[in-house]
Amino acid sequence: MNVQAPFGAQVKIDFGAPYTMSIAGRQVGANQTFEVFNPATGEVVANAPEATETQVNEAVAAAKQAQPGWAALSWEERSKYITAYADALDAHKEEIITLLTKEQGKPRHSMATVEVDYAIYWVREVAKRRLEDEVIEDTPEHIVKIRHTPLGVVGAITPWNFPILLGLWKIAPCLITGNTMVMKPSPYTPLGTLRFGEIAQQVLPEGVLNVVSGGNEQGVWITNHDDVSKISFTGSTATGKKVMAASSSNLKRITLELGGNDPSIVMPGTDYKPLIPTLFDAAFGNSGQWCIAIKRLYVHDSLYDGFLQAFVDYASEKVVGNGMDPSTDLGPIQNKMQYGKLLDLFADVKAKGYNVPLGGKIDESLAGNFVPITVVDNPPRDSRIVKEEPFGPILPIMRWTNLEDVIEDCNDTQFGLAASVWGPDRAEAIEVANRLEAGTVWVNEIHIHGIDIPFGGHKQSGMGVENGTEGLQEFTNTKTLMFAK
Ligand code: NAD
Repeated sequence: MNVQAPFGAQVKIDFGAPYTMSIAGRQVGANQTFEVFNPATGEVVANAPEATETQVNEAVAAAKQAQPGWAALSWEERSKYITAYADALDAHKEEIITLLTKEQGKPRHSMATVEVDYAIYWVREVAKRRLEDEVIEDTPEHIVKIRHTPLGVVGAITPWNFPILLGLWKIAPCLITGNTMVMKPSPYTPLGTLRFGEIAQQVLPEGVLNVVSGGNEQGVWITNHDDVSKISFTGSTATGKKVMAASSSNLKRITLELGGNDPSIVMPGTDYKPLIPTLFDAAFGNSGQWCIAIKRLYVHDSLYDGFLQAFVDYASEKVVGNGMDPSTDLGPIQNKMQYGKLLDLFADVKAKGYNVPLGGKIDESLAGNFVPITVVDNPPRDSRIVKEEPFGPILPIMRWTNLEDVIEDCNDTQFGLAASVWGPDRAEAIEVANRLEAGTVWVNEIHIHGIDIPFGGHKQSGMGVENGTEGLQEFTNTKTLMFAK
């Protein structure tokens, strides 16, 4: 492989051109296309190619062919390419942000900008990470080393809530560790991923990153493919189980980042007023379409009434609208499938007669998939709104009195993605955090992520982690080397 330092910042691709898949370094269309809708208007943003099985196989073959040459490069050489990719993405940042708002719905001036900025930063930083050989034994007789070697071809499958960030979260660690990739975005939000695939072809060697689009079938073809060594999947728990089953055919390695129903506990004595904006954003950011959104908020009885009123007062000022409008705080629900699920959940809340101090009624006459900010006051612990992952702007707030009971309620779920505890007594809050069954638990802070911080779910929220050294290692085999002296 010819290593030439590419000049990413000079790359310019045309965002007005038709969307193409990236296979073996070429931009390819398909005989069939599908429409991608703007969730704020219902209008078609663009058509995306529907990959055939032959094209998916070609993408895997290209990744397989490119992989040995890519893995033979030094970490520094791969790092140069990935950094050039970050530069090339940066050169198209504004176009990517606008496209993200149009196809996903999130506000351009806030959530979309944050997502794209953060994603590019992530690529740049992961390019600096290394997995060094570890010497675990060094005696006069022999030496034992552990080396992390690439797996081969990785299949990456992403959801529609953070398509840019979650896609690039997979690409950077996959490539720096010497693997190549075939990525398939959600059929609801393929456009940004197709574009960042096109950008990649300008800086990365042929076949290192391939992007195909289509529906769920293309995902099935990737997960069943014998030349794919690992699946990095982010999506629902139901699909994660199918991915796991399909991966057994050739014992693919899997990382599954799945759903969550994250609880948050507000302890007695908490000075909650300054926390309301943080808690609101943590629950309603991205219109609640967030795996680690607070989805159940448990507030101590001594604070409950004042808290509920303050929360509702704050939330009622927020604006739901088209993400291109700078006055919008929360965008629409990304697709009709999710919107339909929310209609059903809202109907259940109404039918059961729960108290709803804010929102509660979806106006189905609107062109966009708009759902009002909704708060449900102390619904039963076994209600659907508490038990299910709503993935929308609706939050149950519950009253608690007994600490043992609230911890039991928090843990009484198949999910275990994240949780948070808020309280003036730090030691007590940490003790509670230690007892919550989740991959990440925050105390008096929330939604802190980092390149070096592993992130993953317990129970049915996932398997394995992304990020951190552990996340990098999941893109590698452990090879034990023993040499006699
Ligand atoms: P989804 O499971 O419906 O789809 C995810 C992806 O899988 C899409 O690209 C889809 O086309 C593909 N797919 C569907 N069926 C497949 C199959 N049988 N084989 C292979 N691929 C298949 O999820 P979604 O609705 O796009 O995303 C929402 C879910 O994602 C929520 O549950 C949310 O909590 C979860 N999520 C988790 C994280 C995390 O890091 N844990 C992050 C974001 C979203």
